[in-house]
Amino acid sequence: MYQSPRGTSDILPEEQPYRLYIEKKAADIARLYGYKRIDTPVFEDTELFLRGVGGATDIVQKEIYTFEDRGGNKLTLRPEGTAPVCRAYLEHGMQNLPQPVKLFYMEANYRYERPQSGRYREFHQFGYEAIGDSDPVLDAEVIDMAWQFYVSLGISQLHLIINSIGCSHCRPQYLEKLKTYYSTDTQNLCKDCKIRLEKNPLRLLDCKNDSCRRLAASAPKSYEELCPECAEHFSKLKTFLTVLNLPYEIDHCLVRGLDYYTRTVFEIQPEIEGAQSTIGGGGRYDGLIEELGGKPTPALGFATGIERIAANLKRQNLSVPTTPGPLIFVAYLGEAAREAAVNLCSQLRKSGFAALQAPGSKSLKAQLRQANSTGVRYTVIIGEEEIKTGTVQLRDMTTSQQENISAEQLKILLGKSNQ
Ligand code: AMP
Repeated sequence: MYQSPRGTSDILPEEQPYRLYIEKKAADIARLYGYKRIDTPVFEDTELFLRGVGGATDIVQKEIYTFEDRGGNKLTLRPEGTAPVCRAYLEHGMQNLPQPVKLFYMEANYRYERPQSGRYREFHQFGYEAIGDSDPVLDAEVIDMAWQFYVSLGISQLHLIINSIGCSHCRPQYLEKLKTYYSTDTQNLCKDCKIRLEKNPLRLLDCKNDSCRRLAASAPKSYEELCPECAEHFSKLKTFLTVLNLPYEIDHCLVRGLDYYTRTVFEIQPEIEGAQSTIGGGGRYDGLIEELGGKPTPALGFATGIERIAANLKRQNLSVPTTPGPLIFVAYLGEAAREAAVNLCSQLRKSGFAALQAPGSKSLKAQLRQANSTGVRYTVIIGEEEIKTGTVQLRDMTTSQQENISAEQLKILLGKSNQ
């Protein structure tokens, strides 16, 4: 038996109501904050992610699905949404539109991770990007939008964690301080962090290893080492968050996994224990568009995992709206009536009523059994007598009562049931 590849899963019909609900709320919140939908290809030139996400990141080093196509092009399955959106922003000349340009996406992403609860190799994200403005009011708005999105879904007890990791002016000095701090204690670092100390020292701060965490707790704090511009930006962000009534915690260990972040980084975590508790996060990436070949363009964004949201809805026992099933089953008695049943079923669907019928030549009893198992409200039975008189037998499946009615009466009755 074949199985779906490790870290992927089928989204079965019973899971779909959660998806639909989350996607609808995402589209609603995007409209409220003025974001328009964009869809980018599922694969891009590998170079885009090397430059855009950063060659030293875990994603690029260990997690990307990369392949060469028959034309010898090096391609990568999209591991995240921001770099492709920025590529599209540049490719389609969106820098000439009024700024900021606000775009959102809902898409599948691919990372070769060790699969575990809440962490998959194919997963889905709702994300949005505001490109072309550096005002901290936009940082606050992006965070507010994420928060209000979760609130609109009914997810409660959320924690907002923020930090500022500075910019290309103040970060190098901070990284030096960080390296000096850690280099006196390298024997207590895990194997990965010893490499990170050279390649990507910021990531030492969010290592999950116990002894690395102990060291990180007393490490120099980026928000205490900001240049005056970054400090001002961070201070204004905090003021706006207070205005928006968003309670936040500052965590100097929050640095996020991707190289492109500058200044604001943030995560939202529901109140549960465990490494996979982050439901969404984002930050500012003022250098990314330039890195991809554009003019210096400030920007920021946010992304959240649909699977993790669905898990939170289930954990909180939050019910989601379900799509109503078919309303009516059309059964027949005899071959001539079968043709009439096919016709009636088609007529009903054209009039907007969800209708089913049984394939194959089945006895009336077998058809009624099938009708019962589908959960329809009504079954219509057509036999030779009904064809002659232009009527149908209507069976109410809840009361088992049956009556003879005209096709017109049937539509009126169904119209009332559909409301
Ligand atoms: P990131 O793009 O890594 O900042 O992740 C943003 C959000 O996407 C996370 O908070 C998760 O909700 C979700 N996410 C990231 N990676 C995965 C994964 N491998 N499996 C499931 N969800 C993920």
